[in-house]
Amino acid sequence: MDMKALFLMLMFILGACFGSFLCCQARRMEYKEAKKGKKKKAPKLNKRSVCLKCGYKLKWYDNIPIVSWLLLKGKCRECKEKIGIAEILAEVLTGLAFLMLGTTLDMDWMSVRGTVDFILTFVFLISVVFLAIYDGISGKLPLVWLIVAIVIGAIKVITTNIIVAMMDGFDPSLIYMPIAAVAILGGVYLILYIVSKGRWVGDGDWLLGTAIGLALMEPWLALITLFIANVLACAVMAPVVKKTKNAKIYFGPFMVIGFVIAYTFSEFFFYALSGFYM
Ligand SMILES: [Zn+2]
Repeated sequence: MDMKALFLMLMFILGACFGSFLCCQARRMEYKEAKKGKKKKAPKLNKRSVCLKCGYKLKWYDNIPIVSWLLLKGKCRECKEKIGIAEILAEVLTGLAFLMLGTTLDMDWMSVRGTVDFILTFVFLISVVFLAIYDGISGKLPLVWLIVAIVIGAIKVITTNIIVAMMDGFDPSLIYMPIAAVAILGGVYLILYIVSKGRWVGDGDWLLGTAIGLALMEPWLALITLFIANVLACAVMAPVVKKTKNAKIYFGPFMVIGFVIAYTFSEFFFYALSGFYM
């Protein structure tokens, strides 16, 4: 098997493990939060993963990402309580996200810029995947993690631009392009939040948009991300909104999916869009 295929397979497995781990962390945080007010007897959290209904301690073979979920058909081994669709989604989608990011690493021609860009995007991806999973489970975006993602995005912009400026010389677009990207992704959700007084989008969405705008660094990639996120969010959430009459849409997971697609296929989008300007 060639190196690239092996690398991509490892990226998928790593992603699935990370998705599983981050989902577990998100569930724990949510569980602790929910337990605070109530005095009801609930299973204690253990160092090892437990079933939140019956307290069954998961064995190692219950913890294999994707495989265990499929073998157990999404139910607890002991009490048959449903584990939830979030787990398998988090594992498969994070696996795919890692794999897609992996395709952007040019292994034949490793440049300093390309490699630094890849590593920083990878670290950034982990932080926003956690936000997406947490948002999907609890409908909240923790402020601390939003700040972490914004800081990583800012580090990426600064580092990449210093490298580019040292190699090709300074160009003002190095500064205004990332600002435009942030204005598009952060700005739209901030306006939606203010206009709807927090009814359509959550208060953290514009901060997540800001972080993703920084990591993308290009306004047209921000536009593509915005488009994909909104189309997906409407398609997936419309039936849910109709059923529950709750107009709030959790944009977090869809924004992160949009980011991964826009970033991975940026070259394709670049050529497709440049056709319009010819
Ligand atoms: Zn159980």
